[in-house]
Amino acid sequence: MPSRLGSTLARSDVPVAGPGELILSEVFGPTFQGEGRSLGQRVGFVRLGTCNLDCGRGPGATWACDTPYTWDWEHYSPGDELAVRSVDDVVAQLTDMAVAAIVVTGGEPLIQQRRLVPLLRAAADRGWAVEVETNGTIAPLPEVVGLVSRFNVSPKVRGSGVPAARALRPRALAAFGDTGKAVFKFVASEPAELDEIGRVAARWRLTPIMIMPAGTTADEIVRVARELADPVLVRGWDLTIRLHVLLWGDERGR
Ligand code: SF4
Repeated sequence: MPSRLGSTLARSDVPVAGPGELILSEVFGPTFQGEGRSLGQRVGFVRLGTCNLDCGRGPGATWACDTPYTWDWEHYSPGDELAVRSVDDVVAQLTDMAVAAIVVTGGEPLIQQRRLVPLLRAAADRGWAVEVETNGTIAPLPEVVGLVSRFNVSPKVRGSGVPAARALRPRALAAFGDTGKAVFKFVASEPAELDEIGRVAARWRLTPIMIMPAGTTADEIVRVARELADPVLVRGWDLTIRLHVLLWGDERGR
């Protein structure tokens, strides 16, 4: 049986992108940024395919990835889920949305960070702010740092089921901290997980910290957020809801 990483990245039917192209899961919007510091902002989303982690599949996981269709080739077909598109084509679609900001997400978008540079340059030329949502395992290239407004870095702790040796990469985490553009956003499903997040944040000097409740339904998100709110305040951290789940559940492309 292939390893999960192998099933994610090495399948022969995962498309290959050439110069000026990206491996995409979906481009959608206008919609609202559903999480983090820009919550509620009208944006366009660019979701890239493939990931180097497998959240929710390992032992002890308390929550699961909400975009497994970008990487889980044991349950989804890359031929159905991924497409190679030119950056020019993506920029044209985003231009039609008439947004002032875009969110580049995944999967893990920095797997394709060299190919992302032309898209980031096009965004800068048009005055679009760019947020990149990343799991924090791949250090950003200097040209990417220069073109991104904010990195929403989401390091994975035990509740993800991903071993720490794969999920927490010191050099990459330090690189994000050094950008001065990173917010470290941790998923939690119960207050007991906050102690581990605090230890990870202290060990790798991660700041600022934002906590996001796990959940794929509005009821679950609100319940977990209410449980987390006071303990998060006590620790001096921020809390984000998941607006898109409150509005549209787990519907894709919203
Ligand atoms: S890092 Fe993100 S996209 Fe990748 S498996 Fe984990 S939650 Fe899903």
